[in-house]
Amino acid sequence: MIRLERLRLYSADLELRSPFRSSESTQRSKRTYLVELESDDGVTGWSEISAQEDPSYWPETVSSCLDVIEHHLVPRLGIALESPFDIARVFASIRGNQMARASIEMALFDLWAHREGVSLWQLLGAASDRTHITAGVSLSLADDIDGLREELAIYQQDGYRFFKAKIAPGADAAILELCGTEFALDHLVLDANGSYSGAHAGELDRLDSLGVALLEQPLTERDFAGLADTARRLRTPIGLDESVGGVDDIVTALRLGMRPTINLKPSRVGGYVESLKIIELCKHEGLHLRIGGMLETGIGRAHNLALASHPAFDRVGDLAASDRYFANDLTEPFVLTANGTIERPTGTGLGRVPDPAWISSTSCLELHIGRS
Ligand SMILES: [Mg+2]
Repeated sequence: MIRLERLRLYSADLELRSPFRSSESTQRSKRTYLVELESDDGVTGWSEISAQEDPSYWPETVSSCLDVIEHHLVPRLGIALESPFDIARVFASIRGNQMARASIEMALFDLWAHREGVSLWQLLGAASDRTHITAGVSLSLADDIDGLREELAIYQQDGYRFFKAKIAPGADAAILELCGTEFALDHLVLDANGSYSGAHAGELDRLDSLGVALLEQPLTERDFAGLADTARRLRTPIGLDESVGGVDDIVTALRLGMRPTINLKPSRVGGYVESLKIIELCKHEGLHLRIGGMLETGIGRAHNLALASHPAFDRVGDLAASDRYFANDLTEPFVLTANGTIERPTGTGLGRVPDPAWISSTSCLELHIGRS
């Protein structure tokens, strides 16, 4: 049993190495907060707010997460916890706000793993022999064929073998042009971030004819009926990303006859309790599962690697090395191995902590957890 004592929010501001463009936005920097949760016996756990500054991918923002954490989540943390899974009960009366909830829940799981003296992946029931996770790198939305070819060549030279390309109506010509020659099509995922609609049937048919491994989120996230129709019409497997805010969304897709590949971002579904429910459902239904990413710092990446080493993940996801995104990560960086994988951190808990020099140089908001 533990009691939580305080929560600290550290302001993080990182420039991306290059702007990252999707159908929804262009991101040039990563501004967020790392979360440190501390129990009354002085053990700490880390996570980060994975929301973006603007609500173009997901309804939450960094600011909304801060507000919900300070005014609605931290005041609920004053009770004794028998297990990290109790947190789902503590937050049960909160609607939505998955990324805010996840930032506390995931730090709690790290803290709990440290107290138990185990690795986070062990606490999550992941596989002991899955010490390396195959990397996948996302290519920015590109209008320019030469630019895309250049970006791809750099990643191939780095050792990446699996790619995701962002696409949108009217901005898929470069990828269509390169598909036949530059990519192994079964190693390529196209991600529309919900940017196509029923009016783009011709464009979707053209994408379908390519024979790529997966078409992720072709239609907007709440258009389950349209997504089910599209899945019936196309031969290319359909992936769901933004549509999945919890396990119930996958049940909805199944009821509509879909057999989607699920892009699981633990922070987008509220953290590990819901992620493990999703993993169980995917295993039971035989749905393919891949890990996603939110351009996280090394802390979020370590969390994703711990979960991705669960045996239910049977498709290569979107985990890339730190230097894909940042010149200087906030933790010891994750590097690509010679065979295109990233090593799961070893040691207790997450296996990564932020650089102490960075911690002492940035501003911190400390919130005390009262007893209830
Ligand atoms: Mg996606």
